[in-house]
Amino acid sequence: MSHPRDHLVCWLRDAHAMERQSEQMLRAQATRLERDPKLAGALGEHLEQTLAQRELLEECLRRLDAEPSALKDAAGRLDAGAQSLATLAVADEPVKAAIACLAFEQMEVATYTVLFAAAHQAGDIQCQRMFDRLLHEEQAMADWLRGSLPGLVQAYLARDAAADRGVTAQSMAPGAAQPPRRPADSSTPPPDGERPRPHG
Ligand code: MG
Ligand code: FE
Repeated sequence: MSHPRDHLVCWLRDAHAMERQSEQMLRAQATRLERDPKLAGALGEHLEQTLAQRELLEECLRRLDAEPSALKDAAGRLDAGAQSLATLAVADEPVKAAIACLAFEQMEVATYTVLFAAAHQAGDIQCQRMFDRLLHEEQAMADWLRGSLPGLVQAYLARDAAADRGVTAQSMAPGAAQPPRRPADSSTPPPDGERPRPHG
């Protein structure tokens, strides 16, 4: 692999695998974040963008690579980093999920920065323009996510506190049996089924 174009094709395949991971992650998140409609909506919109990005990468791969197997190879690839981030991002806890989503977007920003430079080195203006566009899309999503984190944390903590108060009010109701206070490390699920787990 000596020509810049060969490296470009190789990194392009990795980016294609990354976008497939992104797609899976965003789909999973959309169904888990119904309590954060703003975040769920933004991730849903980014899913549409991600599908379009994947198509652009496929067009680019078809144009650059003479071998018909290129796309098949790309589909089989799974970047380890992308996989672990995507796994973390389907965590039940929305704050952890948001951290992983932001980390994933930053990885996409890095990937398209590299691809833009590689396309420049290979003298491929068409690719360069496309990577510049994708870079800006990922950067916009990363910026939006970063900006939404404080509000997400605030809403999460407010829900958590409200759930705590709900449990206390229930236990103090007249005639209600006084449940024993759960130890902090109890593995028994909370009675209201609402409170997020503190671990995992
Ligand atoms: Mg993307
Ligand atoms: Fe993205």
